[in-house]
Amino acid sequence: MKRAIFPGSFDPITLGHVDIINRALPLFDEIVIAIGINAEKKYLFTLEERTNFIRKTFSNEPKITVKTYSGLTIDFCKKLDINFILRGLRNPADFEFEKAIAQTNRKLSNIETVFLLTSADTSYISSSIVRDVLKNGGDISSLVPNSVTSK
Ligand code: ADP
Repeated sequence: MKRAIFPGSFDPITLGHVDIINRALPLFDEIVIAIGINAEKKYLFTLEERTNFIRKTFSNEPKITVKTYSGLTIDFCKKLDINFILRGLRNPADFEFEKAIAQTNRKLSNIETVFLLTSADTSYISSSIVRDVLKNGGDISSLVPNSVTSK
């Protein structure tokens, strides 16, 4: 069984995340979407809201489960006996950041990171832009799945 974890903050999940997840589905038997809890980070949506947005988005997809975790992603992978980390790449800044983390994770474990390149039509979308639009009263419906706007 090939199982992957897709870790992130998902504050909130966007159509960029959905694109990466949908394109990774044929590659894995199971994908665990793992919402990382970082005590130092301030989130716009509660953990429960972020979890529900993702659960609703993929309610018809049996290969996907949603979990939360704190601590190192590789430790959570080991706990679940998962060998692959899935990440998306949008731009050179993502690449530099992800490279260092993936190489560190390889040094500390034998967990492999699999990268999918963002699709042309969602590459500009980020949770932080969605939060900015939302805070300023804008319409986010073209940037996020329906589960986020039907809250
Ligand atoms: P983190 O705080 O770990 O970066 P995010 O929720 O922002 O969490 O992102 C989780 C993953 O989704 C990361 O690998 C990120 O690069 C990827 N991602 C986010 N937006 C997009 C997008 N528009 N296209 C491709 N990948 C994306």
